Amino acid sequence: MTEFHLENPNNGQSEEAFSRIDNDGIQDVLTRTTKAFASWRETDIDTRAAVLEKTADIYEQKTDELADHIGREMGKPTDQAKAELQIVVDIYRYYAQHAHELLADQELYSDDAQRTFVAKEPLGPLVGVMPWNFPYYQVARFAAPNLLLGNTIVLKHASICPLSSQACQDIFAEAGLPDDVFINVYASGKQVAEFLEDKRIKGVSLTGSEVAGASVAETAGKHLKKSLLELGGNDPFIVLDDSNLEWVLDQYVAIRMTNTGQVCNAPKRLIVMEDIYDRVLDYLTEKIGNLKPGAYNEPDADFGPLSSVGARDEVVETITAAEQNGDARIVVGGDKLDREGAYMNAALLTDVNRDADIAKGEVFGPVALLFKVKDVEEAVELANDVDYGLGGSVWGSDVETAEKVARRLECGMSLVNEASTIKPDLPFGGIGRSGYGRELNEWGVEEFVNQKLYRFSTQDYKLSQEK
Ligand code: NAP
Repeated sequence: MTEFHLENPNNGQSEEAFSRIDNDGIQDVLTRTTKAFASWRETDIDTRAAVLEKTADIYEQKTDELADHIGREMGKPTDQAKAELQIVVDIYRYYAQHAHELLADQELYSDDAQRTFVAKEPLGPLVGVMPWNFPYYQVARFAAPNLLLGNTIVLKHASICPLSSQACQDIFAEAGLPDDVFINVYASGKQVAEFLEDKRIKGVSLTGSEVAGASVAETAGKHLKKSLLELGGNDPFIVLDDSNLEWVLDQYVAIRMTNTGQVCNAPKRLIVMEDIYDRVLDYLTEKIGNLKPGAYNEPDADFGPLSSVGARDEVVETITAAEQNGDARIVVGGDKLDREGAYMNAALLTDVNRDADIAKGEVFGPVALLFKVKDVEEAVELANDVDYGLGGSVWGSDVETAEKVARRLECGMSLVNEASTIKPDLPFGGIGRSGYGRELNEWGVEEFVNQKLYRFSTQDYKLSQEK
């Protein structure tokens, strides 16, 4: 068995060791999840819903301890970790409280049958491959609807989340979920294929990078299994006018820098009209320049370390190279801190070459890209000029105009006068290189489901047998 460690990004220290699963372990997990499915699928809806309700309660009770895990694992500041946990509580509770309506049969009209309907039935054991940036929320988004439906889950979480991923399993056990309905495994990315190649696994949901998504989708496709991909994003944040401008920019900075900028649907590109550009630039230079990084448990820090020293180095190198190549200007920040851990100063980039990687790709860190456009047409063209299509937002005092712009954004989630909103009843997902499929609310239960037709004939069975 190979070992890996919890690498604390707050201090650069290597902490507890964990063992990866081996081949025998994988076979054992496949057997256990399959056996668990046979009984979990037969459990009544109220029992499944009660487990989710209790799960929500436990997350609520254990907020401090759970926040501390992810602070140590990936550097999330405690207040933000608590906010993530609140969403997790809301998601489990939402699925518990709407269980019957979410799983209701859909009656179909037919005049030549006694009854025709489509039932939602589970598919079987699923694999969830999850990223580290919202360790509990990403799991909840996948686990809540699928456990409610009757599927079983093997969780392969990001390797940097050994504490929180095990906590997810432990909380379900405490909430009364039967053994093996949810199994956390310490697998590597490569080992995911071994699960997917096995006929007992019926589907896979991956949230993460395009490389990992393509790899998982390829294996799933080869074995004719359903996949769902939630990948990266490079969302636009379009400001149409100067009404309440400083407040809008405060929203922008707060949302962009949340989770140290490591959010798939963060507004990575700020697009403003040329008549307000100078005002925006002055305001943001000061605002972003004053943001203070610090450890997850330092209350006066504005944002935390990045998830790892490697991730920090990659972001700093990406923006430094962009400046050296003449593809952008770093107006403020963007340098590493002279301190142990994965720290950098938040950065503001301007004069961005729209055809360069820095504009088209995803910068996963505390970096804002500011663009100047002459009008709405140019703003929409620029907003859509990336291969991602996760979300986007439009800000302006005239909501009708903002709506027209929002409708032209090529993405899965288009918001007006807010950005990156997440709630249990709002569908989440993207198009293009941001992936496919939707999570949350009813969409979450419709991904790994057997939409099964039932039809009861009007024919008299006895009579037709006598003929
Ligand atoms: P990542 O490297 O792709 O890791 C995500 C998960 O995939 C981890 O569990 C990782 O395991 C696993 N993995 C890596 N390579 C794999 C492979 N070849 N086969 C199977 N599994 C593999 O992504 P990340 O750097 O952790 O996360 C950042 C990315 O996720 C960003 O692009 C971000 O935008 C995206 N994201 C998207 C959403 C969304 O909802 N659309 C939400 C959050 C994040 P190891 O940790 O063991 O490598």
